[in-house]
Amino acid sequence: MKLIFLGPPGAGKGTLAARAVDILGIPHISTGAIFRSAIAAQSPLGLKVKAVIDAGKLVDDETTIELVKERLSRGDLPRGYILDGFPRTIAQAEALETFSAVDRVVNFDLPDSAVLERLGGRRVCRNCGINYHIVFNKPREEKICDACGGEVYARDDDREEAVAKRLEVYRSQTAPLIGFYREKGLLVDVDAQPEANTVVENFKKALGL
Ligand code: AMP
Repeated sequence: MKLIFLGPPGAGKGTLAARAVDILGIPHISTGAIFRSAIAAQSPLGLKVKAVIDAGKLVDDETTIELVKERLSRGDLPRGYILDGFPRTIAQAEALETFSAVDRVVNFDLPDSAVLERLGGRRVCRNCGINYHIVFNKPREEKICDACGGEVYARDDDREEAVAKRLEVYRSQTAPLIGFYREKGLLVDVDAQPEANTVVENFKKALGL
């Protein structure tokens, strides 16, 4: 199955994708995570995108489309994939149609007030990428990942100014994809407000799993 996870920053797409990988047995491809590892490795791609990402803006379509096209063309995704964080613009969605046909687009719905509350306290493991929250989902030991022992830190783009920018960018550039995919009959809506286990159940129901 080829899935897109759509939704505002902080809707839990990454957390849900990790659970969906176990349920569906297909890989999770996150453009944000690919960019973050490129930044950590100080690769040419990382150096190119760091300032844009830290400011909460979008990386340009050409760079992002090329990255995803290359990733999907490696021939290691026979059973499909979960695309998380791509497409984020109509131009990206139109480009994707030229190299891969998705089966479903899952729209994780979350109001802006909840986005701000979640992202302000979000922390992430630098090593394995698991998300935590300083109030709702703390690691057992402060700043240490329960799963792998990696360092748990606050993403630069989870700072307040960047979060506001990301939300604005989401509403203006990414939210139009909801209508784009609804018209094609591909969209399923999942309420992202409840706690993770409930969202997983709703996700399974929405996909008829
Ligand atoms: P995420 O982890 O999905 O929240 O992505 C983190 C950041 O990476 C975003 O705020 C963007 O700056 C950049 N990014 C990730 N995916 C895309 C995309 N499809 N198009 C443009 N920029 C992206």
